[in-house]
Parts: sequence; C-alpha cells; structure tokens
Amino acid sequence: MDRSTVKAAVLLGAKSLEIQSVELSLPLPGELQIEIRSTTLCGSDLHYYNHYRNGDIIVKSPLALGHESSGIVKLVGSEAAAEGWKVGDRVALEVGIPCGNCARCLEGRYNICPTIRFRSSAKSNPHYWGTLQERINHPAKWCHRLPDSISYSQAALLEPLSVALHATRRTERNGSLYPGANVLVIGAGAVGLLVAAVTNLTGTSKVCITDIILERVDFAIANGWATKGYVAPPGLTTGLEIATDLKAKLNMLNGYDVVYDCTGMEVCVQTGIYAARSGGALMLIGMGSPVMTLPISAAALREVDILGGFRYANTYQLGVELLASGKLQNVEKLVTHSFRGMEGIQTAFRTAAQRMDENGQLIVKVEIETGSDSVEVE
Ligand SMILES: [Zn+2]
Ligand SMILES: [Zn+2]
Repeated sequence: MDRSTVKAAVLLGAKSLEIQSVELSLPLPGELQIEIRSTTLCGSDLHYYNHYRNGDIIVKSPLALGHESSGIVKLVGSEAAAEGWKVGDRVALEVGIPCGNCARCLEGRYNICPTIRFRSSAKSNPHYWGTLQERINHPAKWCHRLPDSISYSQAALLEPLSVALHATRRTERNGSLYPGANVLVIGAGAVGLLVAAVTNLTGTSKVCITDIILERVDFAIANGWATKGYVAPPGLTTGLEIATDLKAKLNMLNGYDVVYDCTGMEVCVQTGIYAARSGGALMLIGMGSPVMTLPISAAALREVDILGGFRYANTYQLGVELLASGKLQNVEKLVTHSFRGMEGIQTAFRTAAQRMDENGQLIVKVEIETGSDSVEVE
C-alpha cells in the first residue's frame, strides 16, 4: 500500500463545499501522516467559503480550507522516525512552510518569507490544501508535539494564539508593552481576545477591550482576559470622537501605552492612533481595508509607532508552554461551538458566519472535530 484514500472538504466555489475522496501518498522521509482531530475556523476560511476569495486573493482551483489544527500521528517518514517521531504522537500543526533560505528566513522572520506556502491560502499556486481533510502529510519540522494536558481543541487554538504571541512580542521589543503597561485591544474576536489574554499575563492588570458587540466585551472580562471594556455609544462615527470618548470614560486622558487593532477597519485604526499615548505604539493585526485614510500626523508628531504583525514565527513552542502551564486561563472557552465529522463542516461554516446562535449564545470560535480513538484507520 503506497497510498490511501481520504475524505477532504473541498471548496469548489462560493458556498459550494463538497466532501471528496482524494488520494494520499505515504509520507515523505521528513514528513508525518497526521489524522486531523480538530480544526477551528478562522475569518480567512469564512471569506474563502463565502466569496471564493479573500480580499484580493482569488481562488484559482479547488481548495481545502482550515489552518488552525491538531491531530495524531498515524505514519512516520524514515527521517522523522530517526528524529524520534512515533505513531500516536499528538501534534499541533504549524501550516506555513517557508523556503528556509532567503534573507528573511535566515534572520528568523520566516512569516514574511516571500515564498512561504500556507495551507488553505490561495496565495501560492498550486494552492496548498488546508486541514479540513481526514489525514494529511506534513513536514515533521512544522509539527509541534503536545503534552497530554493540552486538548486537541486547545491545540488548534495555538494558531490564533501564535498570532497574538507574535504581535505582543513585537510590541515588547518595541518597548511599548511592558509589565504594568496600559493596553487597549480593539476588536474582541478570537485574536483580539487572545491578545488581551496574553497582555494580561505580562503583569499588567490594565487591559481594556473594545468591540461593537457588548457580549464580546463582557465575555472577555468574564473570562479574566481584560479588566475593562468599552463599547462606543451610537452617534460617534469618527476615530477622533470614539478615542476621545473612550479615553474620557476610562480615565485614560493621556492615552494607552500600546493599542492593538484586531479589526483592520479604517475607523478602528484611526481610533487606535488617537487612543495611543505620545511615544506609544499601535500594532496592526487585523486584516481589512488594504487602503485607508489615517491621521498620520497624529501619529508622527506624537511619535506613535505604527507596527504591523503578520501571522507568526517561532511562537508555537511558547504557546505550548503557556497552555501547559495553565497560566492562560479559559482559553478553551473560545471554542463556543463544535461540530463532529466532515458532514458537519457546512453547518460549521454557516454558524461561524453569525455572531449569535439561535439560543442567543455568543459565537466566537467554531470547531470541527474529526477522527476518533475508537476507529482504527491504519
Ligand atoms: Zn487564520
Ligand atoms: Zn524564505
């Protein structure tokens, strides 16, 4: 047997998802064959699902989505075996595969490698399929072993957690995030919530989170990820108005040491510039409008550093340690809705597109669980 057949959820067009049988070869010497156990859906998956594109990246051929994933090793390539990998190892998948040779890769910033291939993204051709498949072959180098204390769902969240760790690390290096810093997080989706949770770990108890949805802000505070919340009152429309109101209500008239925008929306980025203190920083994590009009002099003349964060590099090990330590409390609560099996994927996408479910429960992360300990697939 040199290959097998596995099921994959393949996107053929907008909202057109088909469960197909695809051939899977044996893993290459440096690869592991992994049975996917958990994939949590991300905003980019939703964009591809709903529009067959993500911003200006258009899908050119059928594509399997999913990139926040974990699973169990089922087959081990010879080189991977020599490195100690074993059938039954539980892993989180880091799904961006950089070239490893360019200047950016060599300086450790492989997330901005110009030729990185990222599963479920239509940017590279042929498209590198995502993890909404029963099994995949993945380079062992980009698999991260999990201790038993980390569940598959938590491990899937290592991907968005990595985004948060990368962004906060960059602001730490910039000097704007430090123990005791005043932090503002704009946008309380999964990444915003994780940024709040991570900044809360650095010893500060002054993390404020803002969103247009009150339930999300309350969710952050209830889970101990932020201490304060703000929802802009109706009628405030400009970034200046919102930032002025926010700073007044939160008694932060001098502004925040560091602001994280996790929305990518113009008005939010404007708010972020005005809400940052002189000499502070604004970190842009959200992917939204590619071109914006910003009050750039309000940044330049007050030396507010505008930083960008794109995905992550060298974060998974830290994420595994953080989750294993139990310091990052309630992370698994981000998964508010879970669906079982490949058949559940359509429903999962429909659920993820909503803010609240039919019972009035907040929807944050939607998970698809696949595979089973009781079924032997080897
Ligand atoms: Zn994502
Ligand atoms: Zn590279």
